Amino acid sequence: MGSGASVNDATRLADSDPARAESAAPAEDEFTNLRPTSPAGASSETQEEPLPESEEVPLAFESFLHNNGTLYSCFSQHGNRVYVDESQDLQTFPNDWYSQGRFITNTNEASSTQLQVSASSQQVVNQPAVRDDDRVSSIYIQGRGTFMTYMFEERVNVCRYFDPQSGLWLLLPLQWEMNIDFVKPRVKHVMASLPGLVDQKEITAALRQSNYDPDEVISVYLSIFGDILLQSSSTGDQSYTDLNSFRAHLEKDRIIEDLRQKLRTEEKEIENHLQRNSYLAREARYLSDMVQHLNQKVAELEADQQEAHEKIRALLTRRTPTVPPAKSVPKPTVDLAQLRQVSKLTRGLNISNKQLRSTVRQVLTDMQNQLEQLREAVATMTQIEQEAAGVVEELRTLYRKEALERKNLYNKLLELQGNIRVFCRCRGNSPPSTCVEMTSDREVVVVQKGTRKKFQFDKVYPPSTSQEEVFEGTLPVISSCVDGYNVCILAYGQTGSGKTYTMMGTKDKPGVNIRSVRELLRICAEKEKVSYTLKISMLEIYNDSLNDLLSKTSGTTLEIRVQGKSVSVPGLTQIQVQTEEDILNVMETGEKNRKIASTKMNIESSRSHLVLTLVVEGTDSVSGVTSRGTLTLCDLAGSERISKTEAKGQRLVEAAAINKSLTALGQVFSALRSNALHIPFRNSKLTHLLQPCLSGDAKCCVFVNVSPDVRNIVETLSTLQFGSTIQQVALGKAPQNIVPAKNMKTDRT
Ligand code: ADP
Repeated sequence: MGSGASVNDATRLADSDPARAESAAPAEDEFTNLRPTSPAGASSETQEEPLPESEEVPLAFESFLHNNGTLYSCFSQHGNRVYVDESQDLQTFPNDWYSQGRFITNTNEASSTQLQVSASSQQVVNQPAVRDDDRVSSIYIQGRGTFMTYMFEERVNVCRYFDPQSGLWLLLPLQWEMNIDFVKPRVKHVMASLPGLVDQKEITAALRQSNYDPDEVISVYLSIFGDILLQSSSTGDQSYTDLNSFRAHLEKDRIIEDLRQKLRTEEKEIENHLQRNSYLAREARYLSDMVQHLNQKVAELEADQQEAHEKIRALLTRRTPTVPPAKSVPKPTVDLAQLRQVSKLTRGLNISNKQLRSTVRQVLTDMQNQLEQLREAVATMTQIEQEAAGVVEELRTLYRKEALERKNLYNKLLELQGNIRVFCRCRGNSPPSTCVEMTSDREVVVVQKGTRKKFQFDKVYPPSTSQEEVFEGTLPVISSCVDGYNVCILAYGQTGSGKTYTMMGTKDKPGVNIRSVRELLRICAEKEKVSYTLKISMLEIYNDSLNDLLSKTSGTTLEIRVQGKSVSVPGLTQIQVQTEEDILNVMETGEKNRKIASTKMNIESSRSHLVLTLVVEGTDSVSGVTSRGTLTLCDLAGSERISKTEAKGQRLVEAAAINKSLTALGQVFSALRSNALHIPFRNSKLTHLLQPCLSGDAKCCVFVNVSPDVRNIVETLSTLQFGSTIQQVALGKAPQNIVPAKNMKTDRT
């Protein structure tokens, strides 16, 4: 789309109207050379013979930023300029608009930043594009007056105030910053949640570190100090002192390792104690059952004895006559043998009764002793258990800190490798005549009319590369997603260059999407101590509008909402999934809905961007820390120019929308590369949606897909140029972000 011809057309327009010359002039920036795709404007590094202008391209695509804040897609044909209005209709570009806005190219984007920096604070407040922006604020400083402040979207948000004397945006000292509208409620929120944390400056500094996310600050402090900060402010000072001493401890990796070992040993010991405890409790129960049983026996024997006594008494009564025998009545006969036997029995019973009593007494004493011992053992166990719980809690805190440290280190490693990695993949099934040579695993050369243009990437995949090998390059960012980072994998290139093959793949040879889902599930299952929930959403961006692909009601269009640094799409269907099969089913449903919608509206899938997002939320059962990462997989619309025959009606509007979004994507990468104060995420729905994946600590992998076919050489060059522009962003954090400017006094630690 809009190749060299567009740049040249734009030049012609500027020449024919000097008043517009500045805004319509082509930028000499590499990015402008590439979208609209212009081999003629290849970067100085690759600049050689200009390529012939393609005859197919009669259009010049531009973006016009109106003073009312709206960005319009425009293009000109045969000297007439038109724009796409809100209802996606083409309108003639009004003459009076030339004085009511400006055309966006990289050059004037940069100069607009300059303009903002050197303007007076009043002028900046009046800038319409900034006026409705929630990042604008002001602060009154005693003795110095009112200053305007602005929350710049750099790699991390940075609050600056406009100093009219120097004409510069300066960093706010912490003392000031904690009082501005943007920061004050966040500080209050943290203090309300953590009454033990009293130092507002400390909280403001922590907010800076976590990109002004109060919840992250709360979670970090809680993970370090646990519940101590939930207590009243009187203990706050103590916490603060603890904080510093803990920070010192953090650096001692060896100690942490030892402690982790100790934690495991202690946990094992506790388990042994608990087992012994339960064994003793069982023993105690058994003995008390015994005592009860013996008591019952004694009672029975006593009853028997009682009965025997009564029998003896009855026999004796029978033996002693109560009435003196009458003369006539014969003397009663006494069975002496029976009496003797009864007496013997009684004696025997008495003896065994005595013996039994003494045995029972003995058993009872023994049991009491044993019970006493048991009680003592239980008390000791409880005490050991309490002590062990204290140690476990202490070790748990250290474990939390260690986990945090490990996450930070891993993140730093990825930062050093570059938060944005660019891979070039050349499509398989090579045609007879190819124009692409892979000279090493990092370099690709395009051969054209005897000249060789070289491009370098993090990795170059020749046609023979398997899907598995291609996927391996993305592995580090996927594990980063489980650690709570926003991660994004994009495929860029012309239609037919293998984007969908790379991202989705086929049933036998699945692509990055399915493999990354598998990897995510594998890592989640591996982390036994963390429980994860996974949610999936799928949407399509067509003509700069968002369509939910998982909604049951067809044709649902959605809007993007921004709150602080979070970007969300209210109403977007999110489905919770647990297994690979669940995820594949959801993807299939989304693909089916996409096909139905595209048939209904007569759209080819290559004319829209497909965005699949997986949200991974984890809760660590040991530390209680929660994390939220996202994996965004994006199969972009084809980046090719449209042909002359297609340049009308719906195709033209589609082409304008694709051009606008891919241009905006390139602008974002250019701004990131130059560390611009303002990154223009809001210039298209695509970049706006991808903002969380392209800012802060996010990680991104971009596949630039090219076709080896010599007939596609112009598009191939344009795609490689786009990729090499991004490649230069992949340098980790730029030093400007951490080194304060010369005249800048800062409290940042
Ligand atoms: P795009 O999504 O960029 O329009 P596709 O992924 O649909 O392109 O690829 C176009 C065709 O080329 C498809 O039939 C696809 O299977 C095939 N293809 C693309 N890349 C490869 C590759 N590396 N190996 C084998 N076939 C490929």
